[in-house]
Amino acid sequence: MGKPTGFMEITQRELPARRPVDERIKDWNEVYLPFPETTLKRQASRCMDCGVPFCHNGCPLGNLIPDWNDLVYRDRWKEAIERLHATNNFPEFTGRLCPAPCEASCVLGINQPAVTIKQIELTIIERAWQEGWIKPQPATKPTGKKVVVIGSGPAGLAAAQQLARAGHAVTLYEKSDRIGGLLRYGIPEFKMEKKYIDRRMAQMEAEGVRFVTGADVGGNVSVEELRSKFDALCLAGGAGQPRDLKVPGRELEGTYFAVPFLMQANRRALGDAVENGVTAEGKHVVILGGGDTGADCLGTSVRQGAASVKQFELLPCPPQDRAGDNPWPEWPRIWRSSSAHEECEARDYNIETTHLSGENGKVTHLHARRLDWVKDEQGRFKPVPVEGSAFTVQADLVLLAMGFLGPQRGGLLERLGVELDPRGNVKADGNKMTSVPGVFTAGDMTRGQSLIVWAIAEGRAAAKGIDAYLMGSSDLPSPL
Ligand SMILES: Cc1cc2nc3c(=O)[nH]c(=O)nc-3n(C[C@H](O)[C@H](O)[C@H](O)COP(=O)(O)OP(=O)(O)OC[C@H]3O[C@@H](n4cnc5c(N)ncnc54)[C@H](O)[C@@H]3O)c2cc1C
Ligand code: SF4
Repeated sequence: MGKPTGFMEITQRELPARRPVDERIKDWNEVYLPFPETTLKRQASRCMDCGVPFCHNGCPLGNLIPDWNDLVYRDRWKEAIERLHATNNFPEFTGRLCPAPCEASCVLGINQPAVTIKQIELTIIERAWQEGWIKPQPATKPTGKKVVVIGSGPAGLAAAQQLARAGHAVTLYEKSDRIGGLLRYGIPEFKMEKKYIDRRMAQMEAEGVRFVTGADVGGNVSVEELRSKFDALCLAGGAGQPRDLKVPGRELEGTYFAVPFLMQANRRALGDAVENGVTAEGKHVVILGGGDTGADCLGTSVRQGAASVKQFELLPCPPQDRAGDNPWPEWPRIWRSSSAHEECEARDYNIETTHLSGENGKVTHLHARRLDWVKDEQGRFKPVPVEGSAFTVQADLVLLAMGFLGPQRGGLLERLGVELDPRGNVKADGNKMTSVPGVFTAGDMTRGQSLIVWAIAEGRAAAKGIDAYLMGSSDLPSPL
C-alpha cells in the first residue's frame, strides 16, 4: 500500500473530464481529456490494500489491482505495466471500455466512492507505450504446431497473442476487411480511437501472428482445408445474431440493426467511402434498446446531425442506488449514463413498440404503448400494457439495439458440427474445447453477448487449453 492513510485523506474520487458537448459532437475523437499524473497518483493512494482484494474477483481477468495501484503511487511505472500485462493482454481496450466490475467490488466502495481502478489501468498502459516499453515478445523456440484462430475480436486477438508467445505458428482469419471485431466496427471512434488496435496488431505481427482479412471461414475459406492444414482451431466468431423486432411494418425501409449502422459510421470515421449507406442526418431517429449498443447509436446519431433522437427501453428504469437484493460486492444493477446521454438525454422506459407505419415503402412512424411490470403468481415480473397509453412518434430511422441471440448459425458452425448449448452458444468444456476434438472456442461465441474483459479472459483460457492439447501440458496463465 503506497500511502497507509490515503483513503482517509483523499475521500473524493476524481476522473478525467469530458470535452465540452458542443465541441465533441462535431468530431469523432475520444471524449475524455488527459488526466494529470499527480491527480492519478493521489487516486492510486486511496487503495487500502485491504488484504482480501474483492477487486481481483470482480475483474474477470483477475487483474492484480492493489499491486499496480501501489507501484503507480511509488512512481514505479515499468513494474506496474509488467504486473498489468501479466493478466491482461490489452489494457488499452479495457482501460477505455470496461464497465469496471472491479470498482463495483472495491472494498473502499462499501462506504466511500471506489478507487478509480480503470483510469489507473489506462494511464499505466499509455505511459508504457509512450516510454517505448511495449516491445514484441516473440517465442524463443517454435513448437512446430500450427493453430488457426477464426475471428479477430478481443477473444481471438488474446488467444492468438498467447499462442504465438507459446511458440505456435498462429494464423488469424477474419471475414471483415479489417482486424478488431466489435472493437473496430461496433464500438464508435468516440469511445475508442481505432489507432489503438493498429498499434497492438503491429506488436502481434512482430510476434509472428499472421492476419488474413476477407476470409469468411465456412464461406470463401473451406473449413475442411483448415482442419487438414492446422493442428488446432479456435472459434472466436462472436455473437453476431441480433434480436429482431417482430411487429407489423418491420419490413419498411428505414429500420436497421444497430451494428451494421455503427459499422458504416466507423468506416466513414476511418475515411472509407460508404456507398448507399445509412446515416441519421436530418432524420427523426428512434433507437429501440436502452443498453450500451443503444447509447452508441445515440452518440453516433447526434454526431451525424439527426433532427431528433429517442431511445426506448422495454424494461423499467433501474434504481439510482443498489436495491436491497443487490448488495456489495455484486455488480450494481443501477441507472447509468454514458457520454452519449450527456450529449442527448433521449431515454424513456417501459415502452413496447406495437407496429411501424410508413409511406411508399419507407417507415415514417413508430407506434408504441406503455407497460406496467407486475408480479405473477410465481413472483416473476410480467409486462402488462397500460390502458389508453398508446402513442405515436415520427420515425424515419429505427435502429434495433435489443441484444444478440448468440453466434450466426449455419456456415462455419454447421460444417464443423460443433454442439450448441441450450442458449444457442457454442458448447465448450473446462478447457474451452468444443464437442469436436481439436476445435476450441472463446468469447461471445461461447459465452453469449458479453464484455471485452470477458472476451480477453476467454481468449487466454482457450489459448491455455489449446497449448495443453498440443503439448501435453501448458504453462500459459488462465483466469478461468
Ligand atoms: C455496439 C456495441 C458496443 C459495445 N460496447 C462495449 C463496451 O463499451 N465495453 C465492453 O466491455 N463491451 C462492449 N460491447 C461488447 C463487446 O464488444 C463484445 O463482448 C466483444 O467484442 C466480444 O468479443 P469477441 O472476440 O468474442 O467477438 P467480436 O468482437 O464480435 O469479434 C468476432 C469476429 O469474428 C468474425 N467472424 C465471425 N464469423 C467468422 C467466420 N466464419 N470467419 C471469419 N471471421 C468470422 C467477425 O467478423 C468479428 O470480427 C459492445 C458491443 C456492441 C455490439
Ligand atoms: S479489466 Fe475491467 S474489471 Fe478488470 S481491472 Fe480493468 S477495468 Fe477493472
